Formats: sequence, structure tokens, C-alpha cells
Amino acid sequence: MATKRDYYEILGVNRNASDGEIKKNYRKLAMKYHPDRNPGDKAAEEKFKEAAEAYEVLRDPQKRGIYDQYGHQGLEGSGFSGFGGFEDIFSSFGDIFEDFFGFSSGRRSRSRGQKGADLRYDMKLSFMEAVFGKETEINVEKMEMCPECKGSACEPGTQPENCQQCNGTGQVSRTQGFFTVRTTCHHCRGRGQSIQHPCSYCRGAGKVRTSKKVSVKIPGGVDSGSRLRLTAEGEPGAYGGPPGDLYVFIHVENHEFFERDNINVICQIPISFVQASLGDQIEVPTLEGEKILDIPKGTQPGDIFRFAREGIPSLRNGNRGDQIIQVSVRTPTNLTKKQESLLREFAKLEKGKLTTKLKNMFKGGGARAAR
Ligand SMILES: [Zn+2]
Ligand SMILES: [Zn+2]
Repeated sequence: MATKRDYYEILGVNRNASDGEIKKNYRKLAMKYHPDRNPGDKAAEEKFKEAAEAYEVLRDPQKRGIYDQYGHQGLEGSGFSGFGGFEDIFSSFGDIFEDFFGFSSGRRSRSRGQKGADLRYDMKLSFMEAVFGKETEINVEKMEMCPECKGSACEPGTQPENCQQCNGTGQVSRTQGFFTVRTTCHHCRGRGQSIQHPCSYCRGAGKVRTSKKVSVKIPGGVDSGSRLRLTAEGEPGAYGGPPGDLYVFIHVENHEFFERDNINVICQIPISFVQASLGDQIEVPTLEGEKILDIPKGTQPGDIFRFAREGIPSLRNGNRGDQIIQVSVRTPTNLTKKQESLLREFAKLEKGKLTTKLKNMFKGGGARAAR
């Protein structure tokens, strides 16, 4: 895999650049390297594509967020694959070229097709599924080209005819005083053709609603808010245009024991005050089974222990975060007579020490608070 340049560097902006700056710098580059101005220049073509890809990411707050956090690999993990070619770039940013050249570059009218709508699918994952990833199939409800008429909307064996209202031009003129006003033909909605025998299977729509199984590979390390793009799995395009994309939005359920902080996993472990005082070895659940943790003598409530690299894999490079274990110390209740008398013994021994400590604590600035 060729190494990719940093998107901010490509656009010549710093990492906290505003949307306005990003757009402005992108326009400059797109003008300079526009294929109409550099016909046949391969290097300019590469620069033009590179800038478009950088802009596509940095103008979208979600993609920009993923890129900031995880870099190029994070975007690949989320399904972003850049642009195939010029048509892709022009269909994404057609408006930007029109307003900075003051004319349509002509490419938009050449690609007469209309891209299909994007679809959204919300996927719930358990905590563990999000940690380790999962391959699954989802049922996507979408429109598909009618299998009977192949999208033509005409009954098989028939052809559309020129619209009689507009003679196939798609427009009708009307004279109003000195002016002739041209408007879109209502009869054929500007298509110039009318269908005498609509397809009976799709009732002349050219498409039918179907449910399609799509397989999805979720990378380990996704979190709520992660979004995967499945290219060309959206609604079909119109008039020969490309299909839209399918976006899978991830929602991760909470876990009863583990909590997540980016790529670290956090858990709380209660221990008894005897374990805290004398030290012990305890079994702690990790993402991949139990592990022994050494509790040292004199552990305090809230003390933190760490299992290195037992956390969640990073979407960027697969390196795992840590497991962070926070201990809470339980005060014993329902003491037996014997336990209680032992504790009283203990308290007698401890009393002297405690009072001395407190005295030291309240010397000086603390004295006022004690009164
Ligand atoms: Zn049909
Ligand atoms: Zn017409």
C-alpha cells in the first residue's frame, strides 16, 4: 500500500482549520489542478484527486473526527475508500466547480445519470461484539431495478413513445405578451417520452421494493457513533446513474462489568478491608477470561491497577489499550461476636496511632476547620 500524505498537509491548512479555510484552500488547489486547465498532465491529475479526497474527508465532521483520531487506516476501517475517478469527484462537488469557474465544466451534463439515495442502517452490538468485531448479514429494504422491465418501466416488448404534448423535447412554450416562456412539459415531466404500456410488474415505476441480504464485516474496536460505508449498496441510481451507498451506524450496548474509555476498559472491583490491609491475590475478569491481580498490602480505596494491553484494539493500528482496575474497599457488616471483639482489640492498639495522626493533620492551617 502506497503511503498517503496527511490531508491537512495536502490542503495546506493546520489541524484546527475552520470549514471556511478548508473550503477556500481546496478551491485554490482544485482550480490550479483542474483537468480542463491541465489536459493530459498526469501529475496535475494526481494532485487534483489527492486534494479532492482530502477535502471529502475534512469537510465532513464525522470523517474528519475519525481521521483526526485514527488517521488513514481509521477511515479505511470505516469503509471510506476515496474516489474512483473524475466522475466521482464532479458528482460529489459539482456545485463547488460551478461557482468558482462561473460556468459548468460540462462534465456534469455529460454524466446524465442521477446517483441513487444513500441508505442508513442502525446496528446494535453487544459490548463484546464491538470489542472483537463481527461478520454478519443484514437485511436491507431497498428499491431495486424491476426484473421484468429492467428498469425501462415499459411492459416487456413495448417501447416508450415520444411525448405528444411536447414532441419529445420535454419542454412546452407558451406566449405571454411579447415573451415566449418555456416550461417543463407536465405530461412527461420533462423526459420527452411517454409510456403507453407501463410494466405491469412494477406498475411503470421501473423499480420494485426488495429486501436484500448484505454481508457486513465490523472491525474490532468500533464504538457507538462509528459509521461504516458500504459502497453501492444504497438505492439504485436513476437514468443510468450509480447506486447510492449504505451507511451502517453502530450503537454499542453497555456492559454490566466493563466500561469503556476510548481504547481502555475500566472496571470496579470490591475487596474486603482485610484484603486491602493484608494484601491478596484476586481473580479479575478481563475481555478474554479471568486473570490474577496482586493486591499489595495497604491498598487504599480508589487505588488503580492496570493490565497492560488487555483493553480494546485501536481501529487505527490494532494495538490494544489497557484494562484499568479500580478497587473499592468494603466495610464489613454482620460481624460475629468473635470478629467484633477482635476488631475492638485492634481498635485499642490503633487508637493511639490515629489520634496522633489527626493532631498532626490539624496543626497549622487546618486548625480553624477543626473547631
Ligand atoms: Zn417493471
Ligand atoms: Zn412531454
